[in-house]
Amino acid sequence: MVATGNRHKVEEIRAMLADLPITVRSLAEFPGAPDVVEDGATYRENALKKAWSAAKFTGKPALADDTGLEVDALGGQPGLYAARFAGEGCTFQDNILKLLRLLEGVPSERRGARFVCVIALVSPEGREQVADGELRGRITESQSGSGGFGYDPVFYVPEAGKTLAELTADEKNRVSHRRRALDRARTIILAN
Ligand code: IMP
Repeated sequence: MVATGNRHKVEEIRAMLADLPITVRSLAEFPGAPDVVEDGATYRENALKKAWSAAKFTGKPALADDTGLEVDALGGQPGLYAARFAGEGCTFQDNILKLLRLLEGVPSERRGARFVCVIALVSPEGREQVADGELRGRITESQSGSGGFGYDPVFYVPEAGKTLAELTADEKNRVSHRRRALDRARTIILAN
């Protein structure tokens, strides 16, 4: 069970684990699941907090993903706070516009960034494990593409020559930070 109500994340994770003999369910299918305050000091803490909460509530093995975007020219911001970058209740668009504004005038070679994805696995018996993955790229000067979600339209992947939002879902799932973390998580899932 994926401990998130973010349908984009659920779709990506479901597609990437489609070959495993498990049913990937979204937390949205479990009405009344408690909201988790993401106040951990690290991605790992936040991911574990979400997975523990979901495993306890559903009684099923839970997988949670905490992702951050770290921009070199901003000293690693927005980092852990990527979701609320433009303030409480902000949209993906608000966050992107804030990021582009902060990077106005910063030349291409100084627009490096990385996505960090940490996946926590918690079993109902209380066994916890963590896997991570990263994707390096750079922040574009304007938005491009309509796929993916979040910061994808401004995250350029050099190997692909495109932003994450210009890739098809399958293409994104082959190269993403989430893919890299899930490849490690898959080994753990298969061993259990
Ligand atoms: P969280 O892991 O849900 O806390 O996400 C942190 C922030 O990063 C949110 O603003 C998400 O929209 C964004 N985000 C998470 N994963 C991705 C991704 O794969 N691509 C682009 N943005 C993402």
